[in-house]
Amino acid sequence: MVQRSVASVGQQGDTDDRRSRAGFVVSGYTTVPYTIAYANELVEDPISFEWHNRENRLTYGKPRRGDWMHGVLLGRVRDLRDRPDRRGPERMRKLNRQRQRRCMDKLLCQVCGAPATDPDSGLIPWVLTKTVFERTGPDSGRTNAPPTCWTCMPEALEQCPMLNDDFALYTVASTTSAGVLADLYRLGVPTPTLSRRNVFVAWDAIAFHARALATSHVVELHGMRAVNALDWGSLAAA
Ligand SMILES: [Zn+2]
Repeated sequence: MVQRSVASVGQQGDTDDRRSRAGFVVSGYTTVPYTIAYANELVEDPISFEWHNRENRLTYGKPRRGDWMHGVLLGRVRDLRDRPDRRGPERMRKLNRQRQRRCMDKLLCQVCGAPATDPDSGLIPWVLTKTVFERTGPDSGRTNAPPTCWTCMPEALEQCPMLNDDFALYTVASTTSAGVLADLYRLGVPTPTLSRRNVFVAWDAIAFHARALATSHVVELHGMRAVNALDWGSLAAA
């Protein structure tokens, strides 16, 4: 089942370059957040449909191992964060899909890239805005925004442009991989035609996998507990 997007930030227009797709204004950071892409990391390899297993599926001209995950074609991107000489300027509105996935798989902080889990409590701090979150139960929900470690939290909260309306801070007990945010294509001549942008495609929504190009990874959060950000802020300052 394709469901409504859990994160529709940052795809259209370029009017607010300061706002990342994670929902933070990032220009205030002294270092570029870990998940933000650099210009030379962006890859525009052409895609096309091929006949495969009795259906048309998206592929690259020269497919590589690792281009698919559970039958979904993954958007290609380079990882040049550790190569300041080659990576080019940061692109504040673009996520690096590889690093975003690493954050989700290994529960790394989206700002600094270090493990986000609180070593004392075993819980994972998570900042969520409405635009990057879809609730699935009383204490669960889906997101493509990675966690934020407690060390980076004060600055993250300070930078969050939506602090006053739809922002929330949680601790999370565990996560499971849920699917991807993807652009969906249909057969077109001579190239595939974009039909829907930035929609959630679950791992069990097999009917949509062949025509999806994944742009980020979505996890389901379990054991969510709301933390009062103001209370936490005063505790952290004490
Ligand atoms: Zn951090």
